[in-house]
Amino acid sequence: MVILQDFDLPQLTQYLTETFACQRFVGAQVYSWLVKGADFDQMTNVNKALREKLKENCIAQSAKIIHTATSKKDGTQKMLFRLADGNLVEGVLMKYNYGNTLCVSTQVGCRMGCKFCASTLDGLVRNLSAGEILGQVVAVNSLTTERNVTNVVLMGSGEPLDNYDNVVKFLRLLFDQNGLGFSQRNVSLSTCGLADKMKQFADEDLAVNMTLSLHSADPEKRAEIMPITKQWSIHQAVDALRYYFNKTKRRVIVEYTLIDGVNDSYGDALKLKQLLSGMSVHINLIRLNAVKERKLNATDTDTAKKFLSWLEKMGMSATLRRQMGADIDGACGQLRRRYINEKGATNE
Ligand code: SAH
Repeated sequence: MVILQDFDLPQLTQYLTETFACQRFVGAQVYSWLVKGADFDQMTNVNKALREKLKENCIAQSAKIIHTATSKKDGTQKMLFRLADGNLVEGVLMKYNYGNTLCVSTQVGCRMGCKFCASTLDGLVRNLSAGEILGQVVAVNSLTTERNVTNVVLMGSGEPLDNYDNVVKFLRLLFDQNGLGFSQRNVSLSTCGLADKMKQFADEDLAVNMTLSLHSADPEKRAEIMPITKQWSIHQAVDALRYYFNKTKRRVIVEYTLIDGVNDSYGDALKLKQLLSGMSVHINLIRLNAVKERKLNATDTDTAKKFLSWLEKMGMSATLRRQMGADIDGACGQLRRRYINEKGATNE
């Protein structure tokens, strides 16, 4: 089956004219439906015989919302998407006063092995195609008549830079003026620190905001919770972040999840300051969303506040973020796991 959301307008037009001998204008018609999240039966201005052929050979909605959980605390919505082959990925829509941010997944599962993360418990199942990542944005956008999604963050399950080509293709589709036409400044990519890919990405013409998931400035501690540290050292990852900033002049952020007794002492704050000193970077602190399968606990609120004040006193720019949607399995991979555990299968 061909995923039509993988194509931009010229590619779609070429595909339809070559495969189904359509006239060129049909490409634009079908494309405008795909961007709206429509399925073939809704494409009323497209010839019925063609629609039937498309149904047999192609997929219009690459990610379908099959379950939504809404947080009573903050209105955060967690969505479960089903891909055409039955695999499940999740997304989170967070509501802020400046707009709605959708967190999308880039892989089914993940092979990075971070010790606190639920997405990686079963390893990597497969990469998502560009259209399957875009399909999540389109599906959520089409829930309301006005634009529902104003910002996109690549922070769902998966390591975006481990699915490099499809992620770059996705971003080009997302920014395409024929499509959703997002602006680069409204998009953020988060990575666990694949330093080579971070630099390669800096050299693309895609100046999105870059977040490095650091979680510890101590090499040994970080290697314990984030195995990627054995491949790319903390210094290589931070150098790559600096390279990204110098090249793009976009905001760079360090993500720091506070884990009880692991990375939340004064010494940890000091090491963080030493590592990042002289860099123009903002630190996002968040308390761990404890994952049932993992033995790690969140730092308590008081200690988290203390950690923030230590950083502030050291002259760092930092914020302690709310745990969005903690009551609805807000952390990466949690909802998918619960759904699979409860329903047994991904394919119904
Ligand atoms: N692979 C990418 C993006 C996915 S994870 C990355 O590592 O950045 C998005 C963010 O959520 C990362 O900072 C990740 O470390 C963090 N995260 C994962 N599980 C978490 C949990 N249980 N509690 C808090 N943050 C978590």
